[in-house]
Amino acid sequence: MRLPCGQPPHPSRGTWQHGGVTAATHSPLFPPEFPQESGHGQIVAPPRDADAVLDGLDPEQREVATSLHGPVCVLAGAGTGKTRAITHRIAYGVRAGILQPGSVLAVTFTNRAAGEMRGRLRQLGAGGVQARTFHSAALRQLQFFWPKAVGGELPRLLERKVQLVAEAAARCRIRLDRNELRDVTGEIEWAKVTQTVPADYPAVVAKSLREAPRDPAETGQIYGMYEQLKRDRSVIDFEDVLLLTVGILQDRHDIADQIRRQYQHFVVDEYQDVSPLQQRLLDLWLGDRESLCVVGDASQTIYSFTGATPDHLLNFRTRHPGATVVKLVRDYRSTPQVVHLANGLLNQARGRAAEHRLELVSQRGPGPEPVCTEYVDEPTEAEGTARRIRDLIAAGVPAGEIAVLYRINAQSEVYEQALADAGVPYQLRGAERFFERQEVREAGAALRGAARFGGNDSLLDEVVELPAQVRAVLSTKGWTTEPPAGSGAVRDRWESLAALVRLAEDFVRARPEATLADLVAELDERAAAQHAPTVQGVTLASLHAAKGLEWDAVFLVGLAEGMMPITYAKTDEQIEEERRLLYVGVTRARSHLSLSWALSRAPGGRASRRPTRFLNGLRPGSTAAGTRGTETRPGGAVERGGAARRKRRGPALCRVCGKTLTDAGEMKLMRCEDCPSDIDEGLYERLRDWRADQARTLGQPAYCVFTDKTLMAIAEAVPAGPGELASIAGVGARKLDRFGADVLAICAGEERAGDGGED
Ligand code: ATP
Ligand code: MG
Repeated sequence: MRLPCGQPPHPSRGTWQHGGVTAATHSPLFPPEFPQESGHGQIVAPPRDADAVLDGLDPEQREVATSLHGPVCVLAGAGTGKTRAITHRIAYGVRAGILQPGSVLAVTFTNRAAGEMRGRLRQLGAGGVQARTFHSAALRQLQFFWPKAVGGELPRLLERKVQLVAEAAARCRIRLDRNELRDVTGEIEWAKVTQTVPADYPAVVAKSLREAPRDPAETGQIYGMYEQLKRDRSVIDFEDVLLLTVGILQDRHDIADQIRRQYQHFVVDEYQDVSPLQQRLLDLWLGDRESLCVVGDASQTIYSFTGATPDHLLNFRTRHPGATVVKLVRDYRSTPQVVHLANGLLNQARGRAAEHRLELVSQRGPGPEPVCTEYVDEPTEAEGTARRIRDLIAAGVPAGEIAVLYRINAQSEVYEQALADAGVPYQLRGAERFFERQEVREAGAALRGAARFGGNDSLLDEVVELPAQVRAVLSTKGWTTEPPAGSGAVRDRWESLAALVRLAEDFVRARPEATLADLVAELDERAAAQHAPTVQGVTLASLHAAKGLEWDAVFLVGLAEGMMPITYAKTDEQIEEERRLLYVGVTRARSHLSLSWALSRAPGGRASRRPTRFLNGLRPGSTAAGTRGTETRPGGAVERGGAARRKRRGPALCRVCGKTLTDAGEMKLMRCEDCPSDIDEGLYERLRDWRADQARTLGQPAYCVFTDKTLMAIAEAVPAGPGELASIAGVGARKLDRFGADVLAICAGEERAGDGGED
């Protein structure tokens, strides 16, 4: 019998109805000679045989790949090919017939990293292997065994806590705004991963020397109510999943045995971040066996706040005396310039992890020096970053090869606005859940139906090419040639369908003779492997979410004291963890690396911030004061940056209540979200119609013309001339030049000229 990690127990809960692809080394629908897509969108053929899998590995990596028996531990720095070595190890074992694909469980830490690993395994012809996060592997097992172990259906998994936390707060008669809600939710998560019950929360916070974002007694009260609501509604949250799985495996030996019969070989990536609870689960999976391969880098430990510790990695040999230990030092990812900065950061590190640091040696040719830029305020930093990104794209760097990484998710909003204002497409979502999205499921069903009817479908009579067929089918599900105006759910839905259209186009390029049925089979295969199509656009992600990933160009933003290290990092260990987080960020870059910070948060604020201490000594002039608006290159050259030429803006005040605004969206509106709006609805609608026409003409998403917030601000301000229009955030010189006349004419109530006319 197959266990849940090998096959979804409820195909209906899956997305596409996929067949038994997990049991085969490769799907019969996907023969090995068939070209497959690489992580960068190129089409590559999988290796001919097991030995060919080893091509392209250096001697140490080969040692990892061919050590298939007994415990193996790889200790290595960033970009040295750890993930590559373990994926090749699995593929080698599978292709050589030594490992049964269904008996291997590869575990990593983020859904996106797991998706990447599945993609890499597929390319190597080992698509049947399970690569999951601890959580998703545990969830599958929990779903499968819950009826037997507990009875009934597994309680529903809460997708997002925020709503329930808001309800809990309301029941406690505590009013929380959006940011406070986010903070309290974060606190509840922290409490749960550190296994702190609500009643103990205030005391544990005090003991941990953490600075809680709000009154711990109140947070504890909301947390208690949240747990109560969860029980009442019979739902579980993300953190409950591991706890419950461990509980079942501990109590039920029959179930533990069943899982052990299925999974005999375990591989763990990013092992430095394993928490005691995850280690416990791993031990339960393993039983008394030793077929375990772990890889990690103590210098990238960034989840200590969840109780994770690199001790499991560093003490591996003590626990497994016969272990093969391999060290890798060649950095294949980054240029010598990036590696120099990364090594410099680590040289200043302290603590146990730092004792095991490995000096990286770049294997790549030289590239540009990393650039440090200081800005007057955060919106200016975001605008400057967006400008540079636009320049990079113009110079030929694909948007999908660029990332903006920040310390906390709340920083994303100002970058979303700035990129939208600069006309740069971006994506916040990871690619991991693509095939689970409702619109993708519906699109799949429609394509499947069309493939079944084949040429008899009237829709397909008129079209011949596969992409055209796909476009025709997906247009019944809401796909349009041009993206819809605005952002939000409609836009998200369109983006998913557009990604499927792009996938069909790529597919037919690789296989010109492919039919719709072939495409459906490919989608099934990808859905089974959760290998989502590459999303076009700049990635916006937190540093934590970026681990294990890489981009040609990386922008590390918000690197001011208070954010890096974050204010609540107080102890030496917490500060060291922040340094490692920055190290993780730096080592994501292949060649372009930009580091920036702002001297004040909001325009007109006091320029009291300082750049992160972690860059002291690593950037020229790091001890000199007054480098505002300049760009410094660690290599030595100093040049003026765009920021220096910007006029300092006054503090943004709500024009209704006069409060100082700090939220990017509110600044754009020039009022608090909650303050009454005097918007001219008719004007707003006319502006939206005009924007949709412009977007269509330019072939760009509507938000690249103006964001919703900017349009709303225009409709509220009703500017009478260019000066007034230019004072609205989101209307820069370029947009004023391009769209100013049109917008002012609409505001003046004139008929729109040049509908759909040329740009
Ligand atoms: P991290 O610590 O960030 O997780 P890692 O050690 O897992 O990094 P990988 O992601 O496996 O590193 O590899 C980094 C990059 O170097 C990838 O693009 C990978 O394809 C490339 N690479 C690794 N080993 C080799 C090699 N022997 N030859 C060529 N390229 C390689
Ligand atoms: Mg890796």
